[in-house]
Amino acid sequence: METSNFTTALLQGHSITFPESANTREYAASLDAQDPLAALRADFIIPTKASLAAKSIPVATSTLQTTTLRNDSAQDLTTTTTTTTTTTNNADATTAEDNEPAVYFCGNSLGCQPKAVRTYLAAHLDTWASVGVQGHHHGLTASPLPAWQDLAAQASSQSAAIVGAQPDEVIIMNTLTINLHLMLASFYTPTAQRHKIICEWKPFPSDYYAVESQLRLHGRDPAASLVLVQPDANALIPTAKILAAIDEHADDAALLLLPGIQYYSGQLFDIPRITAYAQARGIMVGWDLAHAAGNVPLKLHDWNVDFAVWCTYKYLNAGPGSIGGCFVHEKHGAVTYSDGVDSVPMFRPRLTGWYGHDKDTRFLMDNKFRPTPGAAGFQCSNPSVVDLASLSGALSVFNKTDMASLRAKSLLLTSYAEFLLDGILERYEGAFTVLTPRNVAERGAQLSVLLRDGLLEKAGDFFKNAGVVCDQRKPGVIRVAPVPIYNNFTDVWKFMEVLEKAISS
Ligand SMILES: *Cc1c(COP(=O)(O)O)cnc(C)c1O
Repeated sequence: METSNFTTALLQGHSITFPESANTREYAASLDAQDPLAALRADFIIPTKASLAAKSIPVATSTLQTTTLRNDSAQDLTTTTTTTTTTTNNADATTAEDNEPAVYFCGNSLGCQPKAVRTYLAAHLDTWASVGVQGHHHGLTASPLPAWQDLAAQASSQSAAIVGAQPDEVIIMNTLTINLHLMLASFYTPTAQRHKIICEWKPFPSDYYAVESQLRLHGRDPAASLVLVQPDANALIPTAKILAAIDEHADDAALLLLPGIQYYSGQLFDIPRITAYAQARGIMVGWDLAHAAGNVPLKLHDWNVDFAVWCTYKYLNAGPGSIGGCFVHEKHGAVTYSDGVDSVPMFRPRLTGWYGHDKDTRFLMDNKFRPTPGAAGFQCSNPSVVDLASLSGALSVFNKTDMASLRAKSLLLTSYAEFLLDGILERYEGAFTVLTPRNVAERGAQLSVLLRDGLLEKAGDFFKNAGVVCDQRKPGVIRVAPVPIYNNFTDVWKFMEVLEKAISS
């Protein structure tokens, strides 16, 4: 079945409806059988209940045997990498169920490991071991990786489609918070009149600290220059409230910084509308896409977003603390040169380093900064190839599909979770409230479920015993995030069975 039919069969208006009989494991399995993306699950290593309980690196797990066949020329290296992954549990006898994939619903925090990551990292290590410093400029045949110097550009153009950007508008570098600082250094240019930064009520701590410290570096007091738009009683912020805040500060705000998807509530903001509204009032607009990149379709170029940042370890599965992404709209990345012999480059002011320098003349070491046009001109350092190799491996899986197909499945998967949650609520009134918007257009994969008092720890114990991985935020929120690239409908069904047991016990 086509992806689109798969979704539209059930999609009516702003919500997806399921028949009453959908509350069975068989129904979940029937949705899995029709899922056009089902095969991608096999490209990931999903922890098992047994592996989750491990206290040491499993003895015989993940033995990497690398045979390197070297031809006469050092440039012509053939590497055969065999990865054997056997799951052995050293201590207790495990049941078959213990060795089945766990229900992993934490892709909003750390995505599962794509099998390709190990292959790509091994290829990098083999290259480095074989040709040393020459690896900067010479890729080896039979390697999935290009020369190290070309890797950031390759990962950037592979990421562009995921966020709806032109290839030159994306640069993969640093980590999210550092990229946010680099962007604020360039895009937050307060004047006596316009100095405020508008954010939402509960910025992620790192974003809050970044904004607070940038204000202070400019001699501003956050108490006077930071505007936090408050939610309604349900933790959601209606678009109208954001637009009203923009109007209220239309004369004194310099910058608006919002999350594409709010990490706590799971609310997806109306990025194009808010961006256009703020820009029309002279305000620069940046988005933190930590929870949106790889989760929902984005069109950063067409939406005319000024800048955006994201991490690659949540929905993009590149591994803990992996390298970050950064978008700079093409209108801000231009580099022009003045006429004459001493032709001087003109470009948007920024914090600079040697890797932002145009690649063709980077190694002349003449200390005359000529930035690479586009987002790449915002780089500072030589990027970590370990990080880039890991991301390249993850993207090699991600790019087997596209955001439209992932979103089609995600709409169904999360709506199925919502349908089952509503069933539990009918049986156990008041057990929880779903904070995330009911309108599918205002959310991504995640549903934030606020449990009634005292239920969080109990649910946590049940999850642990059942091998369910799900994020718990005190005082009482669980963030349920079925990820379309590796989760399935049976996962959703199993999760709800465990949750209901916790509620009913
Ligand atoms: C995950 C996340 C971060 C993490 O920042 P790092 O610099 O990668 O540690 C920052 N902001 C938001 C909104 C996030 O969700």
